[in-house]
Amino acid sequence: MTSTNDIRRSFLDYFESQGHARVPSAPLVPHNDPTLMFVNAGMVPFKNVFTGLETRPYSTAASSQKCVRAGGKHNDLDNVGYTARHHTFFEMLGNFSFGDYFKEQAITHAWTLLTKEWGIPAEKLTATVYHTDDQAFDLWKKIAGLPEERIIRIATKDNFWAMGSDGPCGPCSEIFYDHGDHIWGGPPGSPEEDGDRFVEIWNLVFMQYLQENDEIQGELPKPSIDTGMGLERVAAVLQGVHDNYDTDTFKALIAESGALTGAATTGAHQASHRVIADHLRSSGFLVADGVLPANEGRGYVLRRIMRRAMRHAHILGAKEPLMHRMVPSLVAEMGGAFPELVRAQPLIEATLLQEETRFRQTLANGLKLLDEATATMGEGDTLPGETAFKLYDTYGFPYDLTEDALRPQGMSVDRDGFDAAMAQQKAAARAAWKGSGAKASDDLWFDIAEELGSTEFTGYSATEGEGQVV
Ligand code: ATP
Ligand code: MG
Ligand code: MG
Ligand code: MG
Repeated sequence: MTSTNDIRRSFLDYFESQGHARVPSAPLVPHNDPTLMFVNAGMVPFKNVFTGLETRPYSTAASSQKCVRAGGKHNDLDNVGYTARHHTFFEMLGNFSFGDYFKEQAITHAWTLLTKEWGIPAEKLTATVYHTDDQAFDLWKKIAGLPEERIIRIATKDNFWAMGSDGPCGPCSEIFYDHGDHIWGGPPGSPEEDGDRFVEIWNLVFMQYLQENDEIQGELPKPSIDTGMGLERVAAVLQGVHDNYDTDTFKALIAESGALTGAATTGAHQASHRVIADHLRSSGFLVADGVLPANEGRGYVLRRIMRRAMRHAHILGAKEPLMHRMVPSLVAEMGGAFPELVRAQPLIEATLLQEETRFRQTLANGLKLLDEATATMGEGDTLPGETAFKLYDTYGFPYDLTEDALRPQGMSVDRDGFDAAMAQQKAAARAAWKGSGAKASDDLWFDIAEELGSTEFTGYSATEGEGQVV
């Protein structure tokens, strides 16, 4: 079996042999981009190279970029544990051309690597193109010999990429692998496309135009290529399994959570083990890149991820903090490719232990309240937003943790009610504060406090002295 580590290496070796510079992954916290919470695609570290603001000593490159999609535009947090193909942390393999080669060469590389180097049967692959991109359609016919019915024209934004309202943009072409008709799902563009049968493995972006205010202004003088392939998804294909969570890396992590909790890794507990394995990776890599749990910003996203995993550890019956004990197996699996993980191991362990120790103190009480609140509810019912807010405010339950806890029973949360309760608490706090006189500066103080999120976890901090704004 080809290991995930071998597949990463073989991708980079292939592109290096084709003249690409081998570029190490950038950290998860993006430099010079305050609009982005975490790096969420392989092209992010190269943004300024594509726009011409920055030059590099190479015109083609390849990387395996660490990505986190747990907030913002791309939020896959809620998918984890429930689809075969989504993680909060994953690696995006990518090859890039900065005004060097274009469509024909990009398709040739992708096809050669998948079918020749890696031996994936051509008949398992389907490509999509943007509906107006006849050029890409013809190239797939010519280079890959794909029959026309397996080159699917898609008219939605899924197949048109843009850096923002201003900047480079262009059509994309995505490659899907058919895991077989024993799995529910249909080809892209069909009504069953959301199933797990046809899995998108690789997205080729053809940066071809320049746009301003979302209007295409003309062709780029030097069209470029940006591609992204999920390492874990292609590992599933090459290891002959359907599910990313059955690949070597995840199997090892899941076996460890099984061993440490004594809970079976199949059946009812499967999703919990998957969430733990996934969130261990994102937590570990985020801490290694300098993010620590906090009540605002990046640190709050990390805290949400950690607490969600910790609730699942609780479901598995863990009587003591669990997550920190899984770090050695994470380092064993991934420390070879990412030395920062080895360096940060003591910090990752200490951070997880501290967070889990604190969270366990209130978790049991919060879950008891949730059980009471849902005792008279059934499938299809909605938890009042006020209850979700109380869990958040008093027990440190991030909103999505409550949602996740109710999901297996087919229940949901009243989001509007939650938001209203939050707004009401903020207004009450403001009202209580007013009357002290200096109105303008008071307002300013509240704006800052809200921005920094000091009203989050107020109950929690009141009981545990954690109230400082981080
Ligand atoms: P999907 O439609 O399956 O959510 P996507 O279209 O959002 O994927 P892209 O933004 O095109 O994904 O990213 C490029 C590649 O990165 C995808 O083809 C896929 O292989 C991989 N990828 C994207 N999101 C995830 C994720 N959450 N976990 C694992 N791999 C992912
Ligand atoms: Mg997606
Ligand atoms: Mg997609
Ligand atoms: Mg895509």
